[in-house]
Amino acid sequence: EQATHTRVRIGAIDDDAYAVFLDDVSEQRRFEEVRRDFVTNVSHELKTPSGAIALLAETISDAVDDPDAVRYFAGRITKESERLNQLVRHLIDLQRVQDMSAMQATQRVDALAAVREAIELNATSAQERQIDVRLTVDGQMHQMPQMHPSASSDSRFEVLADRESLTTAVRNLVENAIRYSPQHGSVVVVLERAGDTAPIDAASTHAVPTHAVRIRVVDQGIGIPKDAQARVFERFYRVDAARSRATGGSGLGLSIAKHGIEEHGGSLSMWSHEGFGSTFTIELPAAPENTEA
Ligand code: ADP
Repeated sequence: EQATHTRVRIGAIDDDAYAVFLDDVSEQRRFEEVRRDFVTNVSHELKTPSGAIALLAETISDAVDDPDAVRYFAGRITKESERLNQLVRHLIDLQRVQDMSAMQATQRVDALAAVREAIELNATSAQERQIDVRLTVDGQMHQMPQMHPSASSDSRFEVLADRESLTTAVRNLVENAIRYSPQHGSVVVVLERAGDTAPIDAASTHAVPTHAVRIRVVDQGIGIPKDAQARVFERFYRVDAARSRATGGSGLGLSIAKHGIEEHGGSLSMWSHEGFGSTFTIELPAAPENTEA
């Protein structure tokens, strides 16, 4: 039920006439509520790891004589601070995608370079969980250049977007694919051009072919139950809050990704089957052919 809120305002028309205005302030109220919930959620999320760190540090000082215990608790402190870091990073990203004026930030971006960077940024966690992350480009296995991070770009995959938003979106999808996969699992990132032969209006003589650059992140992890699928893009929503917190999620990754992609005229969609895995698909309109060259 959507309560409506009305504010009554009395305005003078002239010396002896008044008008009564009834302003609908529901929208404003809802915005206030969302903002308040957000702050409450953030505070809660920050409190959990920072409380744990304080507790673990105290435990360590009681266990100085037991090197194994010290190592164990130090490891847990590292994990908790990683969670704090991730949460803060996600908050900054969220702020960024929300503040962004798409037009202002739009540039020609090589999606291949952005995808490679996004995979690189997850290399440590993939290694930790022994998850094999592969990239295929137009159906071909792509060798990740180890030593040449700025290796040649590929104009077929150029999109008009904000480089950081695109990298962040893919990074978050890969991060999730790794997080929700079993140890030794595999994640495939697929980059391809789509719609090369599909004109907007086949009958029109001015038919403009539509091209899209498609990025898919495919995992064979735990999947998302049907009834939760519609909600995963909401801020702070988690299918299983306890499990997700244990594995280090912030509940923000997907909303950041979606916001950042849609801001640039793209789409982010999902297919998932519980117990089988998930596929997240980004589609962005390809940049027009570069005619300057
Ligand atoms: P989190 O930081 O908790 O992962 P997200 O916004 O990135 O938050 O995702 C929201 C929720 O959607 C997650 O808590 C998780 O339950 C579910 N989810 C996201 N990606 C996947 C995936 N690849 N496989 C299974 N569940 C996923």
